[in-house]
Amino acid sequence: MTQDSLLPDDPEPEGAGMPLALEPEPEPDDSPPARVLAEGARSLGDLRATAAGCRACHLWRDATQTVFGEGPAEERGAVRMVLIGEQPGDSEDVEGRPFVGPAGALLDRALVDAGIDRAQTYVTNTVKHFKWTPKDVRGPGFRGTGKRRIHAKPNAEEISACRPWLDAELALLRPELVVCLGATAAQALLGKAFRVTRQRGEVLDGPGGYRYTATVHPSSVLRADDATRAAAYDGLVADLRVAAQVLAAA
Ligand code: SF4
Repeated sequence: MTQDSLLPDDPEPEGAGMPLALEPEPEPDDSPPARVLAEGARSLGDLRATAAGCRACHLWRDATQTVFGEGPAEERGAVRMVLIGEQPGDSEDVEGRPFVGPAGALLDRALVDAGIDRAQTYVTNTVKHFKWTPKDVRGPGFRGTGKRRIHAKPNAEEISACRPWLDAELALLRPELVVCLGATAAQALLGKAFRVTRQRGEVLDGPGGYRYTATVHPSSVLRADDATRAAAYDGLVADLRVAAQVLAAA
């Protein structure tokens, strides 16, 4: 076989389906669903180790690693509050830990200001892999290597594919309160009709028999302009104070 036979206009080259000098075909997602992977885990450690190899949707391909939840006191019964965001960001994807970037720092500060003991909390995300698009988008379908990776919102299919990991985390932790940070987590857990703007700070019963409340995602405070950022932060803290009162009354 000559090199010429591998040119794209060769009608029937040997090795068809393995094009040279073209974008490699992605491997098929032949992983079992997350539900099947998660059901054998008996501890958070098991769950985390299994989730590290999850290929149940396509998001693993462009991310560095699975970013699983974590908290200072993970043993069953020690975590009283689980806080759930949308998905890992750029920093979290690199470090492999949730809420370690700027939004995580702001959340830590807001928890302190709300009087919540960080040692009683566990933070995780609705979707465990970072979904992003490159900054240098040059047209439909372009997937170049821009210098910055821009957050892309996970869709309903991705959220559904990843849901078993979240359900399994909650089942092992049995928290007294679940705090949804932002609309993605709130609507995934409390239904599409839930509106964070209207219902933030309410406490209600939800799936799994847990109590829930919702507030904005800390990244929305960071994105607020100078004129509204302080009020946005105060609003986040006010909602978290409601969460603190739920724990205090339990
Ligand atoms: S986003 Fe969730 S379901 Fe998809 S590959 Fe990652 S861990 Fe698995």
